[in-house]
Amino acid sequence: MNSSRNLGKVIGEGFRILAAHVRATFFPGNKVECTCCGRSFSRFLYSPYMTARCPFCMSIERYRLLCKFLVEEMDFGQVRMRFLDIAPLWCFKLFCRQFTNVEYVSVDIRSPLADYKMDIQSLQFDDESFDAVLCYHVLEHVPDDRKAIREIFRVLRRGGWALVQVPIEASETKEREEMTPYEIKNVLRWDDHLRSYGPDFFDRLKEAGFVLSISDFVTRLPNEEVERFGLDLKERITVCKKPA
Ligand SMILES: [Zn+2]
Repeated sequence: MNSSRNLGKVIGEGFRILAAHVRATFFPGNKVECTCCGRSFSRFLYSPYMTARCPFCMSIERYRLLCKFLVEEMDFGQVRMRFLDIAPLWCFKLFCRQFTNVEYVSVDIRSPLADYKMDIQSLQFDDESFDAVLCYHVLEHVPDDRKAIREIFRVLRRGGWALVQVPIEASETKEREEMTPYEIKNVLRWDDHLRSYGPDFFDRLKEAGFVLSISDFVTRLPNEEVERFGLDLKERITVCKKPA
């Protein structure tokens, strides 16, 4: 990494932390709690898209669920691991920094938050060089998602796990270019999504060699916890294991 990019990252991080502290002062209290940054507030921030964001780290519902899931179901941080985060968010970086056992590495095709600028369809890492990988709501933006899934499988060690998540919003997977204008407006909806996924997405994970288990973690949590942590009730987390 060159020194000007490094300096830019340090300055960017400083501004991010300053803005986070300023935002948080407007929501003092202990009614809700963020599982990403660990801070408590009077309430979450609400946007026109009905997303409840943490006033400090700006986490959204599915990331707060993910952090709680990692701690309670995957023993995250309990054992030493090299962890790859694809397309990092600041809220999740803050979460990972709490764990000295986790060697955190992030990549993105353009985000300045990432440690390395890299295309997920062609990762510049050795085979089996990570213990775990996170690819959270990324593949819907990637031209060749099957290739990206094969890359995740390749860099993961045998016996390792990946959390690979996409929005499942259709009865079957369909590329943007195959859709009618009606489908683009009402099914795909997002300008930057290249396809809408159906349940057959899981076949793409299996084709690469993964063994899947889909967790109903959030449905097992008491209502008080769902409300306090502002968790996504729709998200079913898919754990992809690479056979040992
Ligand atoms: Zn937070």
